[in-house]
Amino acid sequence: METMQLLSQKFKGLIELPRGELEDEWIAFNLFEISEFTSLFAKLLAQVCSCQQMTAGAGYEYMWTTSEQQSSIPASEYVQKVLDFVQQQMGDQKLFPIEPGVPFPRGFKHVASQILRRILRVYIHAYLDHQPMLDQLDIREQFCQCLIFVLKFGKKFELLGNADFEPIQLFVNQWKI
Ligand SMILES: [Zn+2]
Repeated sequence: METMQLLSQKFKGLIELPRGELEDEWIAFNLFEISEFTSLFAKLLAQVCSCQQMTAGAGYEYMWTTSEQQSSIPASEYVQKVLDFVQQQMGDQKLFPIEPGVPFPRGFKHVASQILRRILRVYIHAYLDHQPMLDQLDIREQFCQCLIFVLKFGKKFELLGNADFEPIQLFVNQWKI
């Protein structure tokens, strides 16, 4: 919980690209921090989530999509697939080079967008379908800081679009994203 607190402090920080920083590097850096927070948060969510579908409020379901098919799967399974996907993508040095001076691949923003969109779905499921846990665990503030950061960051760098915001449009308006 302390780590979450520490991590969430960072999400109060800068969204704009710092001067002299390359955009891809800035996106990658922030994705690492977001994914770290997400894996901690997912452990907490796993303790309360037994939803049969990956819902985003009533009447809205996220399908797990691969190149072959779309499937309706339990939320806990969906979240685990998101974590595995993020880890696999971010651990691939062809996509996320860690050697200094090695450029990010063409299409990096598309990869970044897929990662952020899937992470956002985990947050949306938690926010719309598991509100009580945020107060029971006293993590509402940290959670919202991260969620708002994800939304603003995604919008600023065009990693998220209107369709991604749709299930929480009301809050997006309230938070003035
Ligand atoms: Zn659930």
